[in-house]
Amino acid sequence: MTNQIIDLRSDTVTTPSKAMRDAMATAQVGDDVYDEDQTVKELERTLAKMSGQEAGLFFPSGTQSNLVALLTHCQRGEEFIVGQEAHTYKYEAGGAAVLGSIQPQPIELDPNGTMPLEKIQRAIKLDDFHFARTRLLALENTIGGKVIPQTYISEAGKLARQNNLLFHLDGARVFNAAVEQNISLSEITKQFDSVSICLSKGLGAPVGSVLVGDESFLAQAKRWRKMVGGGMRQVGMLAAAALYALEHNIDSLKADHQLAAQLAEQLIDIDGLVVQGNCANTNMVYLSPEKGDGTEFHQWCAERGLKFGGRNPARLVTHRHITEQQIQSAAEIIRSYFESAK
Ligand SMILES: *Cc1c(COP(=O)(O)O)cnc(C)c1O
Repeated sequence: MTNQIIDLRSDTVTTPSKAMRDAMATAQVGDDVYDEDQTVKELERTLAKMSGQEAGLFFPSGTQSNLVALLTHCQRGEEFIVGQEAHTYKYEAGGAAVLGSIQPQPIELDPNGTMPLEKIQRAIKLDDFHFARTRLLALENTIGGKVIPQTYISEAGKLARQNNLLFHLDGARVFNAAVEQNISLSEITKQFDSVSICLSKGLGAPVGSVLVGDESFLAQAKRWRKMVGGGMRQVGMLAAAALYALEHNIDSLKADHQLAAQLAEQLIDIDGLVVQGNCANTNMVYLSPEKGDGTEFHQWCAERGLKFGGRNPARLVTHRHITEQQIQSAAEIIRSYFESAK
C-alpha cells in the first residue's frame, strides 16, 4: 500500500472495471453516423429521461459537447455570460470565440461559486448596434466541487427568461450535485435549455459526454458535431460503458464525497495550511499553504507518492479507486511536510 501512488489529480483518472469492460465487449454496435448504433441510442434516451429533457446526443468529450451547445445556441457576434472560473470560459482553449466568433462575457464568482444576479443583469447588453447581442447564460454545477443552490438556479433561470436568454448548464459533474443534495438529476437539469453531462469523471466510464435538450436544438447540434469531427462510428462500445456507469456507479459518488470530507477533516488543524472553506466540496478539497507558491509542497508530496493538481491552491479530488487507507496516508504525507517545514 505504501508504495502505491495515491492519485488525487482528478476523478478523470478512473479506469473501467472488469464488469464495465465486459459490458463494452458484448455491446451491440452499428454506424452511429448512419444512426444505426442502438447502444448509443439507448444511452441518449436514458440520459434524456433521467434529466427531464426531450433528447440526448453523444459526444467524445465534455469540451466538444459544451462547444457544440454554444455554437448551436449563439450566432457569430453574439455573446454568452459565464463565470470567470468556468470551464466553458477558462479551460476549453477559447473554443467558442475561436471557432464560433462567440464573445464570452465573464463574471467574477462569489465564494459559493455563483455569479451575483445583479452583475449578470448589468452585463446583459441593450439592443444597440454598438454591442454584441447577449444570447445565453451558462452555469456550471458543480463548480470547483461546489454545489450551486437550487434556489439560485431557479432565480438565474427566471432572469434568463425575462431577458430572452438561453440557459445552458455545464453539468460535467452534475451527478455529484444531485447525489450530494439527495435529489434526482432532473430536479437540477430540467430547468435548463441544454445540459452537458460527463460520463468519464467520477462515474468511471473511459470516455464520453451527452448533451441533452429539446429535439430541434439537438437536430441542429448534430450538424455542428459533424463539423467539429465528433460524428463517430461503432461507438456503442463506449456508450455501453456509460450505460453501465449510469446503472451501477451513481450512488457510489457519495463515497467519494465522504472520503473528501474525511481528508479535509484530517488536515484542518495543520499549522501553515489553510483548507479552503474548512471543508470538502463534494469530491474536492482545496489546500493553500500559507507560505510560498505551493511548488515545494507539491514536490514533497509527489516524491512520497501523493499526486494532486494545482499549486496554491492545490486541488485534491477523490474518486472510486481511492480507499480510506489511502486518504489516511495522504493526510500523513501532507502533515509531514508542514511539520518538517517548521
Ligand atoms: C471535465 C470537464 C469538462 C469536459 O472535459 P473533457 O475532458 O473535455 O471531457 C467540462 N466542464 C467541466 C466543469 C469539467 O470538469
